[in-house]
Amino acid sequence: GAEDDTARPKHRVKSKGSDIPLPVEAFDTLLDRYKMAPRLLSNLRDNGYTHPTGVQAHGIPILLQRRDLAAISPTGTGKTLSYLLPIMSSLGAPISSQGDESGSGVRAVVLAPTRELAHQIHNECLKLAVGRKWRVVLFSKATASTLRDKGVRDKVDIIISTPLRLVASIQEGNLDLNNVRHLILDEADRLLDTEFVAQVQEVVAACTYPDVQKAVFSATLPAGVEKLAMGMLRNPIRIVVGLKDT
Ligand code: ADP
Ligand code: MG
Repeated sequence: GAEDDTARPKHRVKSKGSDIPLPVEAFDTLLDRYKMAPRLLSNLRDNGYTHPTGVQAHGIPILLQRRDLAAISPTGTGKTLSYLLPIMSSLGAPISSQGDESGSGVRAVVLAPTRELAHQIHNECLKLAVGRKWRVVLFSKATASTLRDKGVRDKVDIIISTPLRLVASIQEGNLDLNNVRHLILDEADRLLDTEFVAQVQEVVAACTYPDVQKAVFSATLPAGVEKLAMGMLRNPIRIVVGLKDT
């Protein structure tokens, strides 16, 4: 409502693409419009998240409609939740008429340029996962070796990793990403920089599920990097969040 608008930074959001879903003004709108699990929303509230930020208001519906997305939004505007919430909502629902597919292997991968960032994303994910049975793995040398066991691997729902570690396991034949439905590149400007781009492309190529949803998030996306990012996406929507009148 208008009464508490002053407490929040105002963002100007520009969207580009076809059939852009309506933004959500409040998290509760996700209950009716997208049948989001009440538990996910109560986990949000328990963490003090009362209102969606600009990138969340616009980005969450786009991802829930299984569209590809390029989201450019300044640091500190809540990009992490913009992709974690839709991923966890989608994974919680039965994917096909066969019913819930948990147990059929990794279904979401989040790539981040540094271990530190992957760690932060993992923490954010665990907060949302309270009370649900998702298995979220922060990929490391140690987890990579436990995942050599296919029985263990098949029970993992979400992997958060730097590109290098993931590529090593793919190349060793110890990780299959062929059932991944959601692939997120966080801090895409760094992931698509020369240092990482070949590894990122290898991960993208390993995600062979035909309808894999891809999204890139970044505070900035220089023209060359943006071209590379857009080339990876299918019929994407692009949103740009800017601080209003600052
Ligand atoms: P970004 O990735 O855009 O830099 P983060 O996802 O790291 O931003 O979020 C920045 C901070 O804002 C984190 O501490 C996060 O917990 C908090 N945050 C995210 N979304 C909300 C929200 N809707 N309401 C309140 N705090 C939020
Ligand atoms: Mg971030």
